[in-house]
Amino acid sequence: MGDDITFCQTCRDVPIIEFLSLGEQPACRFPETQEEAQDEQTWPLDLGFCPQCSLVQVMDPVHERVLFSGEYHHLAGLTKGFREHLGTLADELAAHQDSDPGRRRVIEIGSNDGSLLDALAERGFEVLGVDPCGSVSAKGSPVVTDYFGSEVAKKIVSSSRPANIVVATNTFAHVTNLHDFLEGLSTILESDGMFVSESHYLPELLHSLQYDFAYHEHSRYYSLTALQHAFGMHGLEVFDIDLVDAHGGSIRVYAGFRDAHEIRESVTKLRREEDALKLTSEATYRQFAARVADHRDRFRTLVRNLASDGSRIAGSSCPARAVTLLNFCSLGPGDITAVSEISPLKIGRIFPGVHIPVISQEELCGPEQPDYAILFSWHILDELRSRLREEGFRGKFIVPLPEPHVLSEP
Ligand SMILES: [Zn+2]
Repeated sequence: MGDDITFCQTCRDVPIIEFLSLGEQPACRFPETQEEAQDEQTWPLDLGFCPQCSLVQVMDPVHERVLFSGEYHHLAGLTKGFREHLGTLADELAAHQDSDPGRRRVIEIGSNDGSLLDALAERGFEVLGVDPCGSVSAKGSPVVTDYFGSEVAKKIVSSSRPANIVVATNTFAHVTNLHDFLEGLSTILESDGMFVSESHYLPELLHSLQYDFAYHEHSRYYSLTALQHAFGMHGLEVFDIDLVDAHGGSIRVYAGFRDAHEIRESVTKLRREEDALKLTSEATYRQFAARVADHRDRFRTLVRNLASDGSRIAGSSCPARAVTLLNFCSLGPGDITAVSEISPLKIGRIFPGVHIPVISQEELCGPEQPDYAILFSWHILDELRSRLREEGFRGKFIVPLPEPHVLSEP
């Protein structure tokens, strides 16, 4: 916990109030060798909230250029659910613009491996991606390789028209400079265009105790209240919202320039609900922090009791949330023998921070399989469980959150 005052990334002059320390946490990068693992860097991961706009933020965010340098281990489209989700989003955007086929220019910020760009191109959109790790997508959609901000935005509009739609799925929470991002957005957006963003939804995070969703690469957690505040500072406003299931509870927001769109009832209704949740009150976050501390004790006890009875416990899949959870709970190779993964980029490497070996899913489900598998991606529990059963896993499943338990199955 630092002594320096940290100010809200949106409001700028409002000090944020710290409410939760998740300890020293590494980046979600998988060391290849023991030597590399010993040299691994960690940073304190502390969360605070803004008493004015309710934005929850990492107290001292590590700069994205440090975190995302070198290899990039996250590839969109790997889970079936998320691929379907992007397909649905593409359909919805297509339906939205059907009345005016001339208005189909889309820019996606944070286009990752290009899954959504390709899905949109197939539906007749003219697409452009912006991504620091991108070059072109699988199907050849063009990508500007850079961090999006006001400078990149100026370059884009100097060579082509502004966009009718700008999309950012889960990038909005990661960007270092929110105001520079929003300034860039106002540059590339047509005067009656719409910006569609998806972010993990703060009230859902609080409700289902998703502290494991906090990590360095993800430095902000939004409510509608916080989004309205940030957009408002750039002449933009939210005109429609959808609560969607991606990543265990996300908010999809449709925004545009002020007065360019009619504000839907969905917005006023959700805002009323948020006001009732007291998202700018300290007591809300103190209660959350107490539930987190209690969860850590119970999860650790569950795993260690099983291990001390001689059971072998492994983890299934290495999402960033598993990194936060295991490091916060200090569960290492003495408690968990291995963590499995389907991405060839991670297999054979070492799990960040707690240094557990990463094995393939075939090995997890093979002849030497463990007695228990912890389902770290508990927000897609059913998908994971049936996949592991299909591949021959016979052991029991541990669900870490919101309530740590061994899954009872018929
Ligand atoms: Zn604020």
